[in-house]
Amino acid sequence: MHDLEKIAQECIKEVKAARIPVQDDRIVLITAKKIKDWGVCVATPRRFEIYINLRLLSDQCPVKSLKETMIHELIHTCPGAYDHGELFRHYARIMDERYGYEILSESDEDAVFHPDMPVLRRLVCPKCGAHSDIRSKEQLRVYEEWRVRGMHTFCSFCDSAFVDEAYPEKPEVHDLEQYAKECIDELKAAGVPVREGNITKISTDYLVERGHWGYYFLKPNEQFRILISRELLQEDCPVDRLKEVLILELLHTCKGCKKQGKTYAKYAKRLEEIYGYHLWEVKDWDAVFAQEKPVLHTYVCTTCGAKYPARRKYLYSEEEKSGQEKMGKIFRCEFCRGLMYESGSDAEATVSKTQKRYGGLVVWSAEIGKTWDME
Ligand SMILES: [Zn+2]
Ligand SMILES: [Zn+2]
Ligand SMILES: [Zn+2]
Repeated sequence: MHDLEKIAQECIKEVKAARIPVQDDRIVLITAKKIKDWGVCVATPRRFEIYINLRLLSDQCPVKSLKETMIHELIHTCPGAYDHGELFRHYARIMDERYGYEILSESDEDAVFHPDMPVLRRLVCPKCGAHSDIRSKEQLRVYEEWRVRGMHTFCSFCDSAFVDEAYPEKPEVHDLEQYAKECIDELKAAGVPVREGNITKISTDYLVERGHWGYYFLKPNEQFRILISRELLQEDCPVDRLKEVLILELLHTCKGCKKQGKTYAKYAKRLEEIYGYHLWEVKDWDAVFAQEKPVLHTYVCTTCGAKYPARRKYLYSEEEKSGQEKMGKIFRCEFCRGLMYESGSDAEATVSKTQKRYGGLVVWSAEIGKTWDME
């Protein structure tokens, strides 16, 4: 069991030696407790209370991890450093550089108790330099599942999207404005009533919500704001993939297309036919950046017919795979939220038995329990 008081005194000394204005005279309590986080600094007017997770006192916990948490909380007592803002990060960086700590890093279970485990993946914050390490295989698998769907993880210090060291950022080379204009022209030429005048802005961002490559916000007076994932502007993204995402968002501006539905699907299919786009497909990371990879499984939405050509070995464990419900939760169709099943699987056959089909497209969903007719 580590000696909390001794460690606290040591940390205060180190922080002061680094000329960081810790207000130790205002700390009325430092104690270990069963808490959710590794540490908490509670501020009452002019006073601070520091709580340290009891588990950090165990002999299994390296002293360095305990000290990192303690110092993190001590920094919060400095004037202007109660949040994880710039000043907090500045002090944390000083401590990291001076003593070799890793205060500017996300500390999960492995980082604290198994710092000797090899780092399988490092995520770095491009803004504040904080990092997050993945050490367990299971965690890496879960993270990869997340990443391959186009989702990002964010720095808990400054909220920026982490950059994966295995997939570094590349310069943005595609001209968004130029391609947006091209897409609008193509839509018009195909007779799709895109409402160009209702679009206030088309810009890029990191998109985390629902793991979409594109996203739109509907503002009052039918004004649309379209967001496109930054990665799609990078040099290794084929221009057609960027345009497909743009078109899928532009289609929402048509009357009756705010949500994907019958009219939306009709237009998308028309554009596929005319220009050879792949619009009615779920786009994961591989579909965008590694299209040459062979398709290993094709999942099909039993409601609207959307496809998910998966280019990597099953991402999910056998256990998850066998749990039909769980599988349904994972494979939600991006277009209609229906369930996606592996093409030709037993699951698909069971569902198919209870469906009516019109013109090859499924119009009944066991999950949603409503009809969704498409011509
Ligand atoms: Zn904090
Ligand atoms: Zn950051
Ligand atoms: Zn669907």
